[in-house]
Amino acid sequence: MTQNTDSGRNAALFERARRIIPGGVNSPVRAFRAVGGTPRFVQRAQGPYFWDAEGRRYIDYIGSWGPMILGHGHPAVVEAVQRAVRDGFSFGAPTEREIELAEAIAAVMPGLDMVRLVSSGTEAAMSAIRLARGFTGRSKLVKFEGCYHGHADALLVKAGSGLATFGNPTSAGVPPEVVQHTLVLEYNNVQQLEEAFVLHGPDIACLMIEPIAGNMNFVRADTAFMRRCRELCTQHGALLVFDEVMTGFRVALGGAQALYAQQIPGFRPDLTVLGKVIGGGMPLAAFGGPRAIMEQLAPLGPVYQAGTLSGNPVATACGLATLTEVRKPGFYDALVAKTRGLMEGLAGAARQAGVAFSADSEGGMFGFFLLPELPRNYGQVMKTDGARFNTLFHGLLDRGVYIAPALYEAGFVSAAHSEQDIAETVQAAREAFAGSTQA
Ligand SMILES: *Cc1c(COP(=O)(O)O)cnc(C)c1O
Repeated sequence: MTQNTDSGRNAALFERARRIIPGGVNSPVRAFRAVGGTPRFVQRAQGPYFWDAEGRRYIDYIGSWGPMILGHGHPAVVEAVQRAVRDGFSFGAPTEREIELAEAIAAVMPGLDMVRLVSSGTEAAMSAIRLARGFTGRSKLVKFEGCYHGHADALLVKAGSGLATFGNPTSAGVPPEVVQHTLVLEYNNVQQLEEAFVLHGPDIACLMIEPIAGNMNFVRADTAFMRRCRELCTQHGALLVFDEVMTGFRVALGGAQALYAQQIPGFRPDLTVLGKVIGGGMPLAAFGGPRAIMEQLAPLGPVYQAGTLSGNPVATACGLATLTEVRKPGFYDALVAKTRGLMEGLAGAARQAGVAFSADSEGGMFGFFLLPELPRNYGQVMKTDGARFNTLFHGLLDRGVYIAPALYEAGFVSAAHSEQDIAETVQAAREAFAGSTQA
């Protein structure tokens, strides 16, 4: 690995970026504010690596926050995108590839009979909520603290002072009236969930959940909790909306819903929200569900939803080529083994250094905590010592390993990561945990 200093071109680009782009970035976490230091400006990426503006190589465990499940620049995907580009960038008229992508998604995910394509996870989640409200004729939403569903106004909300009161905005610019229908509950808390349905059941349009939460690091909804979510929604006529933007095609071919269906007979969510992997790194997302609900959408039904670039021909080519690869036999088995190997290696390194550590993973998605036991909700995740996480983060970064620059984000392994990459990462962690300086 070439080793350069941090203080050259990345810093100069950051300085220049901050003059023209708020905070120097187009999405806040990229600015490194939680961990301090200078964001790396990516010049190019290939396989499991990217190179920054100083020509320094990093083993990439973010992969664009999940989409790059094949690694960067997979030849079959690059070829599909190049072919698509030659045939035109965008038409504002339907294409065959949109059908193929919708069919490819519905074929493997239990909860989808019909699919609509959009351009971002935010848009998909926002549209799914509108559809749930339109279908049920109700207004209230249930969401969970620590789950992220994009930045639609109604979802930028934190818990109110009790179950009878609804949420407070977490962003300026969101009027309190806009979140007055959003109820925020603690993840994995069955009792709160039951109380919420007792109080508000007939008014709840939908319960939206990340089944494996990847926006508070990595926290699974346990089976008993998920079973109750499903039962209560059914009982009260609310829709269960799975936000699988991160977990879809990432934790298993059929998403987290396929994993819950193995544990809860007949399990399926009512609506599913997808993004990230289904676009293979291009702006593409989707939502879907049963025909009777999906046919409430315009132009068939009264729920309006639209998009100039929806089902974009280049994005769908990229998504389709990506899904073709992940559907090959053994794809997830190999990814699971690698991701588990990484977690075991990191746990071993932490143990050697006497550092409190716990880790979990599913498919190619992982989370680790500087905590002795896996947290079950956002409050427990946030008990992590931020300063210690930041030291680890920079220790890894200095050694060419790029993990999420915030302790509340999940990590991602791609099919392109080799045993050698994993071993290098574990060695970097050993050194970082020991606080040793670079040779
Ligand atoms: C990333 C993410 C979103 C938002 O998707 P964008 O494409 O960034 O708008 C929504 N939900 C979950 C679970 C996500 O991880």
